[in-house]
Amino acid sequence: ADYMYGMKCSKDGEFTQGELSRFGNIQLSPSAGAIYEGTKAYRKENGKLLLFRPDHNAVRMQLGAERMLMPSPSVDQFVDAVKQTAYANKRWVPPSGKGSLYIRPLLMGSGPILGLGPAPEYTFIVYASPVGNYFKEGIAALNLYVEEEYVRAAPGGAGGVKSITNYAPVLKALSRAKSRGFSDVLYLDSVKKKYLEEASSCNVFVVKGRTISTPATNGTILEGITRKSVMEIASDQGYEVVEKSVHVDEVMEADEVFCTGTAVGVAPVGTITYQDKRVEYETGDESVCQKLRSVLVGIQTGSIEDTKGWVTCIN
Ligand code: PMP
Repeated sequence: ADYMYGMKCSKDGEFTQGELSRFGNIQLSPSAGAIYEGTKAYRKENGKLLLFRPDHNAVRMQLGAERMLMPSPSVDQFVDAVKQTAYANKRWVPPSGKGSLYIRPLLMGSGPILGLGPAPEYTFIVYASPVGNYFKEGIAALNLYVEEEYVRAAPGGAGGVKSITNYAPVLKALSRAKSRGFSDVLYLDSVKKKYLEEASSCNVFVVKGRTISTPATNGTILEGITRKSVMEIASDQGYEVVEKSVHVDEVMEADEVFCTGTAVGVAPVGTITYQDKRVEYETGDESVCQKLRSVLVGIQTGSIEDTKGWVTCIN
């Protein structure tokens, strides 16, 4: 899109007043490392622009920054930067229902350092791009592959942080699965290789009867904002929502499986392949996934009244 927002961190760890500039390349010391966020601006039927829970992205960035020994912008600074970026790029937000403006806040450490330690300087940048549906199948069902060789994160590591380095261990697994025709990979725990973690950029839910289970967030998976929102919507609708260790056998015996994330929204899973087994799941209009999806999308795009205070209108 046209504009990005940038803010530098002073030596005492304070982020100074940021500013918008034309989108373009930036100059950076080669020793950069980063954590980031992802959120979206949606267009309401009447043209107004809505943000979905950007304060939760701000808090998640603060928690990640603390884990990575980085200073971070305050919640107000973060949300203001996201709002300014979305507003400055408003012509790029697709019409209601046709996509959204993906907004990426990025916190980078850089500067003259070779050793292992906090970076001497920090930059916070927010940029944006219009997006359609994440998976090329649109809201059609995903076909997932259960990965047994590569793992995403280990207990005690930083798998719960949205750090750029967390996506490095699984790049190969994802590319291999895609080349075999799968939409994404389901990762297992790194110890027993039997318990579900998440997919490459989304959380996973398993439905059996009226019970919806999802892997507990114990530091190895990202605590998704969509995950938290869908859990609340599901509880409101009378489902029993359980956070626990989800065994891969339980996944193979489920009625339904679905994924949640800013990029995918709530996406039904059509098949899962694990070892030499391939299981098909319920994905139709009457599925739990589609019901939860329509409520979430309705709130995000303003067609369902936001009784929870989840959306912020920016124009
Ligand atoms: N897991 C991973 C690894 C992710 O990258 C994402 C996307 N941020 C998610 C889960 C879903 O999180 P959210 O619902 O906040 O987008």
